[in-house]
Amino acid sequence: MNYETIFQEIYQELLSVKDIGQVADYIPELAYVAPEQFGVRLTTIDGEKFAFGDAEKRFSIQSIAKVFTFVLAYSRIKSSIWERTGLEPAGTPFNSLVQLEYDKGIPRNPFINAGAIVICDILASELASPKENILSFIHRLTGVNSIGYNDKVALSEKKTGYRNYALVNLMKSFGNIRNDIDIVMDIYFHICSIEMSCTELSQSFLFLANNGIVPHSGEQILSASRTKRTNALMQTCGFYDEAGEFTFKVGLPGKSGVGGGIVAVHPEKYTIAVWSPRLNKKGNSYKGMLFLEEFTTKTSSSIF
Ligand code: GLU
Repeated sequence: MNYETIFQEIYQELLSVKDIGQVADYIPELAYVAPEQFGVRLTTIDGEKFAFGDAEKRFSIQSIAKVFTFVLAYSRIKSSIWERTGLEPAGTPFNSLVQLEYDKGIPRNPFINAGAIVICDILASELASPKENILSFIHRLTGVNSIGYNDKVALSEKKTGYRNYALVNLMKSFGNIRNDIDIVMDIYFHICSIEMSCTELSQSFLFLANNGIVPHSGEQILSASRTKRTNALMQTCGFYDEAGEFTFKVGLPGKSGVGGGIVAVHPEKYTIAVWSPRLNKKGNSYKGMLFLEEFTTKTSSSIF
């Protein structure tokens, strides 16, 4: 299939749709991004590549990084991870505190902020140099060693991270944070600041389409069964409180971030990463969602 022609067609169609989304500005550093940028990249597990627009341009991947840290923790502590985090959709915004009190400090899932913070705590216990080890994990997935943190963004996150500090303190009070809060939050703010392009994101998620094996190196990251479960979790929890809508309209597991990126996985086939910085009210890329909806419709490639 010539995906590039399809990308072009959908892009043209969407030009006539007014982008009513807003660039994330709750972290000052994120508000500086030029909002008209748009990129997409599809990579098949057989190594075919299709790109359009600003596919090579790096942007702040934000919550998409929660998949990398979850996979790294899951690959190490296996199913005991579920003693520390749940696996149900939250139905509340990504930084909500309300449910955490009811659930006695156990986050609903690893992709909301509270869950991702617990995962950072697990990695602080498990890894010798968590920040370096997380980056080298991403380097192995992509084959690109220049991917790194944006320290300005990490600092901006830290300075405005009142809710995230509230989450970690609440969880600490329930005994679900084992390490020093500052160590955990330093990891959390840094993973949010990682910058990658659509090309790199699409490449890095390929193992999730390929039964846990990185196609270019043959490295087994997760077992086939844990890979399936990670995809199931992205399907139900990957889009804040809009996971139902994404499943309904796009029909692929995936993960979004407030930098405007979305990565979706078609198991056994391909991964697709799209980037458009303006976000809808739920924090997902407005045009990115529309683009993927059109894409899976035109190519009849949802998993359902
Ligand atoms: N850095 C963001 C925060 O913790 C993550 C937001 C996101 O992409 O969901 O507030």
